[in-house]
Amino acid sequence: MTARGGPPRDAAALRAALARARAPGTPKDITERARAGLLAWLDASAMRPVPELIRDLASGAVATQIGHAMLGQVAAPPGLACAAGCAFCCILPGADGATITGIEATALHDALAPLDGPDGTAWHPEACPSLDPVTRMCRAYDARPMICRTYVSTSAEACAAIAEGTPAPGPMTHPAQITYLTAHALARDALRGAAAVPTYSLKRVAAAATRSTPDPLKQARHAPKALEAERRRLARGLSRAR
Ligand code: SF4
Ligand code: SF4
Repeated sequence: MTARGGPPRDAAALRAALARARAPGTPKDITERARAGLLAWLDASAMRPVPELIRDLASGAVATQIGHAMLGQVAAPPGLACAAGCAFCCILPGADGATITGIEATALHDALAPLDGPDGTAWHPEACPSLDPVTRMCRAYDARPMICRTYVSTSAEACAAIAEGTPAPGPMTHPAQITYLTAHALARDALRGAAAVPTYSLKRVAAAATRSTPDPLKQARHAPKALEAERRRLARGLSRAR
């Protein structure tokens, strides 16, 4: 059975479900690039049990792998102002911060939970708690989510202005960001009825980890509409830039 007729029970049904999954609103070329990544991963995983495949799709492990591969294949735009210790992009206005997958939420939490000392809010009240307030370096650098790896800018001044609520040109996301979110959305559609495919709030995961909040991932889990809203927001920005 497939996504439209019930949960996929074998690799062939999973392949069919991924092949027909939809991500309305994302440009077709990006949707098909994300789908190609999912199907290539599935073909390379043919010997693994289906429950493991479903687990890796649901956690975002596959989407994140696709994003990382694309980061290695597609060069960053020229003229970027990004540098170590430049952290205006780590000021995350509002309670949510950004959309991350389950595997990213777990990795970020596990990297931050053993740490103590002041967090990013000692530098700026809206900064990500992962940030070191003195060096302005990420304290979970190796575990930082895809959004942190893909957000870049030609102007640090623009990032500073945006952090304070003033729109300015310069910041952009590497195409790996929308591709990985689209892959995650396709996985969600394909696994409908078989497994939840959640997303999480970056800022709430980081805050819970640094403050030892009970049930950190549970309280940071998004409502399902958050992934769709973020994917469509990125798609609109991409359409304007084309
Ligand atoms: S995105 Fe902006 S704030 Fe972040 S490192 Fe680049 S220039 Fe600095
Ligand atoms: S996880 Fe690290 S890189 Fe990402 S917003 Fe937080 S401090 Fe910045």
